[in-house]
Amino acid sequence: MKTIIIGAGMAGLSAAQVLVEKGHQVTVLDKGRGVGGRMSTRTINNAKADHGAQYFSVKSPQFQRFINQLQNQQVIKEWQLAQRANVRYIGSSGMNTIPKNMASGLEVVLNEKVILITQNELKTESGKSYSFDKLIITIPIPQVKELFAQSGIPLSERDLGVCNAIEYDPCFAVMAVLNQPTDIISGGIILENQPVSWIADNFQKGITEVPSVTLHASAEFSRQHLESNPEEVAQMMLSSVNQWVISKNVLTFQVHRWRYSLASKRYEEPFYQIENQSIFLAGDGFGIGNVEGAFLSGYHLATHLP
Ligand SMILES: Cc1cc2nc3c(=O)[nH]c(=O)nc-3n(C[C@H](O)[C@H](O)[C@H](O)COP(=O)(O)OP(=O)(O)OC[C@H]3O[C@@H](n4cnc5c(N)ncnc54)[C@H](O)[C@@H]3O)c2cc1C
Repeated sequence: MKTIIIGAGMAGLSAAQVLVEKGHQVTVLDKGRGVGGRMSTRTINNAKADHGAQYFSVKSPQFQRFINQLQNQQVIKEWQLAQRANVRYIGSSGMNTIPKNMASGLEVVLNEKVILITQNELKTESGKSYSFDKLIITIPIPQVKELFAQSGIPLSERDLGVCNAIEYDPCFAVMAVLNQPTDIISGGIILENQPVSWIADNFQKGITEVPSVTLHASAEFSRQHLESNPEEVAQMMLSSVNQWVISKNVLTFQVHRWRYSLASKRYEEPFYQIENQSIFLAGDGFGIGNVEGAFLSGYHLATHLP
């Protein structure tokens, strides 16, 4: 069975791991330069900063088993935030340590953006074609709809109902390199009713030796400024947190606009099959959302497939 998975994020990689064990011939395609999707870590002037997912919790036994294995291999470590009672988990050298570990041993092709799907074949921007018996798509659903539209694949009313029910919050992320760590207790702070909703001190988090912080704007602020100049948005965010991230300590910064961050409205089942096609949709838009939900979505889909 030849299975192509679009997306080397948490959902695509967890599906790939199970399907390879089942004997499928799996190829994972991703448009990015690295694996991980929204579990990404950026390096700026030797400072590392997680700029997508910051940490995650564990609720299900399937995810707990997976986490236990990665903890034994020291791919994951615990992070206790002062504002949260339960322990959280992070990648030991940044969040992308986890997808990198998952991808080892899998056939993953990077810098390969899928632009067209035809009957049992897809085409990428680089001009290559890949044939498949089954296709798993794990990219954010608005991008799935674009891909189907440009491929001329009509979606049924039911397919459209599922896709239209899934929504994501946008999020501006600012990663700033500092000349010294902050005083933020436990290295992470959740802020309410402010432009910035989260600050992480990546040095205190233990993922970088050169001090850096990650700021996330609230969904409301991000939506309001979605089409504004990102540099100006970053300046607004930095000046709003001067109390924690003192401006004279900021050496340089980068900004990233996530159009799709957390899936705020999701389809309740962990995956969905497009009607009359060997095409399956998975990812954090299905099931419980976030890092664990994305993992479970890929896992349950792969377990379900023969
Ligand atoms: C700013 C931010 C903060 C977050 N904070 C948290 C948090 O603290 N805790 C938590 O649990 N979750 C958090 N999340 C959510 C979490 O990161 C996601 O739920 C999860 O990583 C989604 O995984 P996925 O595999 O479904 O999708 P993705 O990680 O988005 O993977 C999809 C992949 O598809 C690739 N792709 C897209 N289009 C194409 C194409 N046409 N061709 C080929 N490849 C393509 C992308 O490059 C990407 O690698 C956060 C997300 C963001 C952005």
